[in-house]
Amino acid sequence: MNNKIINIFTNETDISLETRAELTKKLVDRGYTVTEESMEDADLIICIGGDGSFLETIHSCKFPKSPVIGINTGHLGFFQEISPDCLDQFITDYEDGQYSIQDLSTVKATVTTLDGRENKHLGLNEIIIKGRQSYAVHFGIAIDGKPLERFSGDGILVATSSGSTAYNYSLGGSIVDPRLDLLQVTPIAPMNTTAYRSFTSSILLPAEVSLEIYPVYDDNRIFILNDGKETGYSNVKDVKVEVSDTMVHLMRFKNYDFWNKVKTKFL
Ligand code: NAD
Repeated sequence: MNNKIINIFTNETDISLETRAELTKKLVDRGYTVTEESMEDADLIICIGGDGSFLETIHSCKFPKSPVIGINTGHLGFFQEISPDCLDQFITDYEDGQYSIQDLSTVKATVTTLDGRENKHLGLNEIIIKGRQSYAVHFGIAIDGKPLERFSGDGILVATSSGSTAYNYSLGGSIVDPRLDLLQVTPIAPMNTTAYRSFTSSILLPAEVSLEIYPVYDDNRIFILNDGKETGYSNVKDVKVEVSDTMVHLMRFKNYDFWNKVKTKFL
């Protein structure tokens, strides 16, 4: 008797829906309870789609405690582990315990407004702090309370190690082996002129330090993006960005090798 609960999430492409139907049948035949509703006590969460669907699943399940596995029906599939044509092998390996769990760090932004309210945003890939529309922003940046620079440009992106291969990489940031727990602070179109002086490369910070970003001049309007989800603020005092205690537990099978994945996906 199998009493395991498996949650399946999918995007709406034909191949994802076909894969879900096939996988659900195989799992139900083996006695699993399969549900498309988010269940806190699920033994496994399966996401069928691309990286965007994977991030969507993590956010809609509120950064779940259950292990998560991705089946790639999207383009890049960086978080994904399984191909839709290897479902039987996946089920066998899962039942035989032939997997490990990779705990991925997340990044948290705490926005404090001028009236003293706090709002929190969590990202698996990154947090971005930028100005409204295409306006340049002018931010003070401090590390553990000590001022570092006055940044001018489009914004600041703070990536986790696992998010280093996403937007961070497109901005010229470094690819980080996910075994390193750190935050990568990458400038977005930094201005570096006689009028404004900003670092033009990424800065790597150890996981235990925090970064404070605060608007200078009079404009306190900014946008926060956590994994692409945008929230606007009009009265920001400061934003604290740090590694969060929340982790995402990604299931990895025996052939997983981070650098091989980077090589095959990027080169
Ligand atoms: P999406 O699904 O279209 O994702 C955009 C691209 O980023 C896709 O090619 C996806 O495969 C890739 N991606 C996402 N996470 C990745 C990771 N950890 N490693 C390697 N590639 C990754 O868009 P979405 O649903 O809005 O997803 C949000 C993410 O898209 C954001 O977290 C951000 O990192 C990424 N993004 C990238 C760019 C860029 O590279 N210029 C611009 C905007 C957003």
